[in-house]
Amino acid sequence: MIFPKDCILCDVCNAEITDNTFIANQDCFWFKDWLYCNNCNEKYNPKSELELIMEIKKDNDLSNSDLAKPIIITPIEKTDDNNLV
Ligand SMILES: [Zn+2]
Repeated sequence: MIFPKDCILCDVCNAEITDNTFIANQDCFWFKDWLYCNNCNEKYNPKSELELIMEIKKDNDLSNSDLAKPIIITPIEKTDDNNLV
């Protein structure tokens, strides 16, 4: 199943950091596995603990980045064991 994204959200506070064309509306910080909006970056200052992948500036186009990719959920395959009931 594929769930396209409407926009990109801060992983900490869920604030929308892009509009629906994936243009950033503020400076953001993309760390490994975590995306911080400007507010959360200032509040939690994760730089010392997390690996910075990319600094995102306001008005950056993120539509081609991994952040904008749809969420793909792969169903768990049934095994033959399920048919033995
Ligand atoms: Zn945030």
